[in-house]
Amino acid sequence: MIIIKNGDLVSDAVTQGDIAVDGNKIVRIASHIEPTEDDRVVDASGCYVFPGFIDAHTHFAMKNAMTTTADDFQSGTKAAVLGGTTTIINFASPSETGSLVEGFNESLAKAQGVSSCNYRFHMEITHFDKKVETEIKAMKQLGVTSFKVYLAYGFRLMDDDIYRSLEAVKAVGGVLGAHCENGYLIDVLTEKCRIRGELSPASHPLCHTAEIEAEAINRLATIGKMVDYPVHVVHLSSQAGLEEIRQARASGIQITVETCPQYLLLDDSCYHLPGFESAKFMFSPPARSRADQIALRQAVVNGEIQTIATDHCSYNFDGQKTLGRDDFTKVPNGIPGVQQRVSLMYTLFHETEGLGPVQLVRLLSENPARLYGLYPQKGVLAVGSDADLVIYKKDGESVIKAENQAENVDYTPYEGFKVNGCVKDVFLNGDQVVVNDKLIVKNNGVYAK
Ligand SMILES: [Zn+2]
Repeated sequence: MIIIKNGDLVSDAVTQGDIAVDGNKIVRIASHIEPTEDDRVVDASGCYVFPGFIDAHTHFAMKNAMTTTADDFQSGTKAAVLGGTTTIINFASPSETGSLVEGFNESLAKAQGVSSCNYRFHMEITHFDKKVETEIKAMKQLGVTSFKVYLAYGFRLMDDDIYRSLEAVKAVGGVLGAHCENGYLIDVLTEKCRIRGELSPASHPLCHTAEIEAEAINRLATIGKMVDYPVHVVHLSSQAGLEEIRQARASGIQITVETCPQYLLLDDSCYHLPGFESAKFMFSPPARSRADQIALRQAVVNGEIQTIATDHCSYNFDGQKTLGRDDFTKVPNGIPGVQQRVSLMYTLFHETEGLGPVQLVRLLSENPARLYGLYPQKGVLAVGSDADLVIYKKDGESVIKAENQAENVDYTPYEGFKVNGCVKDVFLNGDQVVVNDKLIVKNNGVYAK
């Protein structure tokens, strides 16, 4: 057995104690566990022991019309586990023929054998017909219970097909998440920028206003009410969007919400940087005002936001972001962050009244595990749960630098950010895969069905 000793164990409260791991499970938790000669002892004094963190929003190995993400499963999951994330939930796209099952199999093949943390998938619904409806049912046997629709981009669904998708997801008891931005209004504002010749990244947030997000959230909530089934908003970015969620909840609509570190830490000053630097911050929805950032932080404190994921979707600055040097609409949208999420949020929570390690576990591990059917195997320190564990050193401070990251991308939007403490050791399925910040066992991730 492995005995992790003297750590501050984080669940509903923080308690000092020991954890015994046998095989891939936690087998005992007590204030003191006496090791035998055969046991290996790992000292966690001065550290928090967290259940492995879950990043429920990544885009590894994603191909679009312009280019392919810089991180595939190999590099992305290495970065994830080094940063304390033991399970990622990646978005799988339908195959070229439009099949969900084929698309799932393609994604699974890309992840298997090369992933250094555990993985699972959400399935995107990019069109709706009888075949898709049947396949949503078939996905359950494959371990996929969460789906996503887009209200923006070329593959967006119209309201009738969102309604039909939600009905189909309801029939299997799944979760439907939505990218909430009104794509038609983005298109009309983008066209106006083009006519005015305003083609720099500064135009990006002007074409993706907070009202455009709020309107789409309102529409999704209305569909949720009509189908009488909960809906999930991914990457909430604005106060206007938050107000729509409050109103929806007040009228009895069940709606869960995810936000991301970029909306809690960055603001729209990043769209006024010299040269072409602002392209590094082009993601959708975009970074908002300081007032939006403060409102979202307060919503995290209040429990109005349930989960924090990254929306990691990395593109190199050189060669990929620069595709849009003369036209911001050609800049691939997305930023990296899977490696820095835990330490950035640990630091923010440490500095924010009403937040701390208990809330960190709730938003980055327990709540995503509950929402996506992984609880209590994951998301909690408990006897019988999977031994996915993070030992986080409390002391010390470090500065985020792209040159130190395992992400396969040439920049980080968090360059120069100071973080408190660090991920020291990580256990994945009972094996210690990270020792003193070094990845010693690669490719040990399994499909978290
Ligand atoms: Zn995304």
